[in-house]
Amino acid sequence: MSLAAREITLPQTERQARADETVRAEPTGRRDDPLLRAERYRPRTGLWPRIRSLPKRIFQTVFRSAPYPTRPRLIVFGNADRRSPVLVTTNYDLTVRRVCRALEGTDCYLLVAPASGIDVWCAAGGQRFNIDSIISILKTSRIAEMVDHRRLILPQLCANGLNLFEVRRRTGWSAVFGPVDIADIPEYLHSRRRTEKMMRVTFTVRERLEMAVAMWGSLALRYTLFPVLVFGLAVAPWFIGGLAVMAVAISLGCFVIPGKTFVQKAGVGFFLPGTALILGADGWLLGGGLGLFSLQWVLMLLLGSYLVGTSYPSYTPLWQCGYSTLFYGFPHLKLEIIEEDCIGCNLCDHVCPVECFSPTENKKMIFSNPDLCEGCQACLIQCPTDAIINQVADEHQRLSQCQ
Ligand code: SF4
Ligand code: SF4
Repeated sequence: MSLAAREITLPQTERQARADETVRAEPTGRRDDPLLRAERYRPRTGLWPRIRSLPKRIFQTVFRSAPYPTRPRLIVFGNADRRSPVLVTTNYDLTVRRVCRALEGTDCYLLVAPASGIDVWCAAGGQRFNIDSIISILKTSRIAEMVDHRRLILPQLCANGLNLFEVRRRTGWSAVFGPVDIADIPEYLHSRRRTEKMMRVTFTVRERLEMAVAMWGSLALRYTLFPVLVFGLAVAPWFIGGLAVMAVAISLGCFVIPGKTFVQKAGVGFFLPGTALILGADGWLLGGGLGLFSLQWVLMLLLGSYLVGTSYPSYTPLWQCGYSTLFYGFPHLKLEIIEEDCIGCNLCDHVCPVECFSPTENKKMIFSNPDLCEGCQACLIQCPTDAIINQVADEHQRLSQCQ
């Protein structure tokens, strides 16, 4: 059996194997074969498999901020051969399924690296997806025995935690960043070049609504207990429903609701008009007594607005979410390029998801759109000459040395 159409997995538990819906086991070969267990990737077609996986897909979308580990492994697509590209992603089930779907019809290898079952962006930022993860999957998959080249394609959104030069130094494999959007991977593999569009994140209405659902699920699960403990079980559906309305409203109105920070936007957009409405109804119905009933609604509104306002930026790819940014509008990252240290390699521009940089005529880079910076730190981590500095960190260091 050729390498094509196989999926090679690492040792796994039976339960994990059953949990994976994208591949089917198809044992081959001897145990000393590098392909310890080969599996054929088979996309699920037909209506019934889709219906059967629907609850899982809905659950993972609503509670997507939770980890969903799938087993680390190597997946082979199509007629992959010794020259086929090798892509890497984290073992977050939702991502693996989406990448697998995007790779249908291509000839390549996909390494699913161990990263605590977290998505690429968060896993790299939190150092769960690191060079050790890559070393681990390179060794256990034995991909080096299957290809002639030594080149990995990493997801661009891991640039906030994985330094390309460090990957090469420690693994012996060179690495490049692929597109931001999974949907662009086939085109990228075909053309072998990243267009400007492939490097930047989008935040379409569909993506915003998906994030609204995810934020709502996470907040409802974690915080409904508090109003229930204070006001009783009867308020739970109202609180959960209110969170849903606010999550959708802030997602759709994130660019237009007035306010410098999302805490202010939530205050202006939900708390103030909501409180006015409650007090108005209270005056009309109860003669202005502001009874316990009205107070409970105001307090629940305050809690809901606060939660939505403080959580929303971390569900978006466009805004910084540090506390100073959330409450006062001061970015925790204020970057500057030391011109004489810049060698014009463009790497910062290539990893920036929101187009903050522009090249100058003398082949240096300038920080042309600082207001767009969403603080991912990818440019800081990748710059080979440390030409980019964070002025906020420098200022903190200066102040702490003075004290
Ligand atoms: S990554 Fe650093 S050296 Fe390269 S262009 Fe950007 S600032 Fe200059
Ligand atoms: S400029 Fe800001 S958004 Fe762009 S890579 Fe650097 S930290 Fe990230």
